[in-house]
Amino acid sequence: MTELPPDDGTAEERTCVPTRCYCLFNHAITEQERAEVRKQIDYARRIGDTHGLLVHLTRLTGECPARRNS
Ligand SMILES: [Zn+2]
Repeated sequence: MTELPPDDGTAEERTCVPTRCYCLFNHAITEQERAEVRKQIDYARRIGDTHGLLVHLTRLTGECPARRNS
């Protein structure tokens, strides 16, 4: 039998606002992730990878439920 953790009043907030991205394109949420995506954008530009550029721009922009925390 599994016991539930004590209710500290934040359970509802945790379930409504995810702390990490579950979107198709895996959005960059933290500053570290955003810096990594910027590097990948530079690389895609350098090698002329237009599809990669589009994917990484999508990761950096657009709506994401996890960004409501930041
Ligand atoms: Zn997302």
